[in-house]
Amino acid sequence: MSGGDKLDFEIRPNLQPVPAAERAALLANPGFGRIFTDHMVTIRYAEGKGWYDARVEARAPIPMDPATAVLHYAQEIFEGLKAYHAADGGVTMFRPQANAARFAASAERMAMAPLPEAAFLESLRQLITIDRDWIPTGEDGSLYLRPFMYASEVFLGVRPAMEYLYVVIASPVGSYFSGGVKPVNVWVSPHYTRAAPGGTGAAKCGGNYATSLVAQAEAMEHGCDQVVFLDAVERRYVDELGGMNVFFVYDDGTLVTPPLTGTILPGITRDSVITLARQQGRTVVERPISFDEWRADAESGRLREAFACGTAAVITPIGQVRFPDGSFTIADGGPGETTMGLRQILVDLQRGRGEDPNGWVY
Ligand code: PMP
Repeated sequence: MSGGDKLDFEIRPNLQPVPAAERAALLANPGFGRIFTDHMVTIRYAEGKGWYDARVEARAPIPMDPATAVLHYAQEIFEGLKAYHAADGGVTMFRPQANAARFAASAERMAMAPLPEAAFLESLRQLITIDRDWIPTGEDGSLYLRPFMYASEVFLGVRPAMEYLYVVIASPVGSYFSGGVKPVNVWVSPHYTRAAPGGTGAAKCGGNYATSLVAQAEAMEHGCDQVVFLDAVERRYVDELGGMNVFFVYDDGTLVTPPLTGTILPGITRDSVITLARQQGRTVVERPISFDEWRADAESGRLREAFACGTAAVITPIGQVRFPDGSFTIADGGPGETTMGLRQILVDLQRGRGEDPNGWVY
């Protein structure tokens, strides 16, 4: 398939779907990433042939030769976005074109074949259509969509693969928070960095997450929910959290967030927050902010709020910041007004409520 061609999906419905009563029981308390829908989408790629064999079929294990390239050289990328029941009875996604573009950018960085945007969007539409009954109802529920792609060629040798498998699976999820929005504590890792200049920090590749796990474990040992990564060169500037971007809210209403210099993931929530805040008339500055500055401004009271943002947790206030020598608290440690206001605007938009001046609701 070249850029403009349309892929035809062969649809083979699951003949043994989860019975409705069992599905309802699962949806009553879905948790996060634990349960999966009845179907998956797969599309294959081969050098010289392009994209082919697009299917919607029963979700099932994928048999793999032990010499499959991804198992050895980790050529793998993924995305994460959600589908929601909308106020008007339809189903919405939030800015899926942005996920398609980031998926293609991740593919380029990992020397993989970029999937055309139209095929990416159509794959999501197909899976949502067939598994629509799996979208949780209720304010906190959504269907988390996980498109991913890996080097499926069977070979040993360090070079880009010539065959890829693109897959989409879906997982009904509840609120990321049990019992409402709670501020999270974060741990500033003294030992580990996430991405160096010239590395893969801006790509959503599995390897970035593999290397973050030991830092995340360290955060949890210190009673924190997320790790804060500092820049890999000076170990001074705040990059991002393990799975979220970070914002700082100052006493004059200004928002500050680290710039996209290639070492952090360009979050779609981050981009949405920047746009929404500017539309509210706020100043948003993308600039490096050091850990020392963060601490000094929190201690002086100039820094009023800090929050993390991403698809999973939307916008999450940061309460306390811990590091080997101590800790500091942002304001009184509770959720701030600006943080919660932006969160509400975003949640309403994602669920198809209110105005959508930016055309983000799909
Ligand atoms: N940073 C990292 C490392 C992430 O994994 C994510 C989640 N995809 C984000 C930031 C936030 O990105 P988004 O808003 O697109 O979910």
